[in-house]
Amino acid sequence: MPTFQVAIVGAGPAGYFAAQALQNAQNEDKTFAIDMIERLPTPWGLVRSGVAPDHPKIKTVSKVFEKIATAGNFRLFGNVELGTDVQLTDLQAKYDAVIIATGSSLGRKLGIPGEDLRGYLSAADFVPWYNAHPDYTGVDVPLDTDTAIVIGAGNVAMDVARMLALEPSELDPTDTADHAIAELKKSGIRKVYICARRGAEHAAFTSPELRELPKLEHTNVIISKADIDAAIIAAGDTPEKDVKSNLDAMLAIAEHVKTSHERTMEFLFHHVPTEIKGTDRVQEVVFKTPAGEKVIKAGLVISAIGYEAAPLNGITYEKGKVLNTEGRVKENIYVVGWAKRGPSGVIGTNKSDAAAVIELLISDLKTPKNVGDLSDLIGSHKVITQTHWEAINTAEVSSGEPLGKPRVKVADKTELLRLGGL
Ligand SMILES: Cc1cc2nc3c(=O)[nH]c(=O)nc-3n(C[C@H](O)[C@H](O)[C@H](O)COP(=O)(O)OP(=O)(O)OC[C@H]3O[C@@H](n4cnc5c(N)ncnc54)[C@H](O)[C@@H]3O)c2cc1C
Repeated sequence: MPTFQVAIVGAGPAGYFAAQALQNAQNEDKTFAIDMIERLPTPWGLVRSGVAPDHPKIKTVSKVFEKIATAGNFRLFGNVELGTDVQLTDLQAKYDAVIIATGSSLGRKLGIPGEDLRGYLSAADFVPWYNAHPDYTGVDVPLDTDTAIVIGAGNVAMDVARMLALEPSELDPTDTADHAIAELKKSGIRKVYICARRGAEHAAFTSPELRELPKLEHTNVIISKADIDAAIIAAGDTPEKDVKSNLDAMLAIAEHVKTSHERTMEFLFHHVPTEIKGTDRVQEVVFKTPAGEKVIKAGLVISAIGYEAAPLNGITYEKGKVLNTEGRVKENIYVVGWAKRGPSGVIGTNKSDAAAVIELLISDLKTPKNVGDLSDLIGSHKVITQTHWEAINTAEVSSGEPLGKPRVKVADKTELLRLGGL
């Protein structure tokens, strides 16, 4: 029975779901040997370094990933970066198929003056900072200001605003990075604005996340009822289902009785940022609004307006995504997940997407190459295997237990390798 070797680059949801689809497609005619390559010593992609720490239920999908990883025909090659430790052409030569599942890690720019000022950052830097991503521990997040502005109208913007606006002790029972909890406890921020360019009817938030906001124990969440009334009219008599449930959720927030908490998170619609001003530090943001120019003073501005894929050598990109036709890139290369579609959908979207690409990949296969694998390419490089990762995972979970946390994340790469036994 022929065994095809498939390399999957990127251990995020898309990579795991691609592996799962391959596992499910095995039969008497063919099997697959799957090697998953991940640049970090830890897998799970944005489930570890993106999803908000105060939403632990979402992260339980990692149990599915671990089940896929412990199936017999799967090997993890963590701490191995495509483009640095191994090259795409070498993978192509060794494997029957190579699947790019590297996500989109770069924050889109606003393209307005002032983005180079201290106190301006992208969610693509702030989120991995509070989630203990090893490459982002040194991000400069100045929290010594009373007001922060988050620019964007999607769930990432909402996560960022919530993380800044909630009472930091609410993060104690979460897996937020220790360094971030320490800094957030010293934060002077009491007012967080979340600013959307267009009306509420166009917002990309999703309603379950909106409905959770009034449950924040120490934060007053404010939406102007007039804004939602106007959005309901603008959405027309037969709005799409998602738009209607979003507007219902926002109306509930607008009508929610206001509390006297000193921390507030306020939504502003029809606010188009035109300039970030300050001398050596962000001091204010200028917005174009229907009522004319408006200036809001703030010492921290975080934009959450989308992500783009980081370029890989030998791959063509278009509009921040890998150029592809239904997941086929070129020769024996395929792409899945955010690298393929851009930053859209929920974790589950990556499952159906990967399954469709794997169907095409399988239809392209002929006879196995059988010319070796990644082990021939990386020599004495320190590789985090599934066994090493399980040691890291156990160590993190154990240090969380006495503190009532799901885990204490280790953000230092050397320490992660040490915990893995390397
Ligand atoms: C802030 C934030 C919050 C989110 N919250 C939710 C939520 O609550 N619910 C939900 O359903 N969805 C959420 N999402 C969306 C979800 O995380 C994505 O749909 C999903 O992670 C995309 O999967 P992916 O595998 O394409 O990319 P990723 O998860 O980014 O995984 C890509 C992996 O590839 C690795 N990699 C990159 N380059 C290389 C290289 N050169 N060599 C080797 N490895 C490499 C990366 O380290 C990473 O592990 C959130 C996203 C963000 C950004």
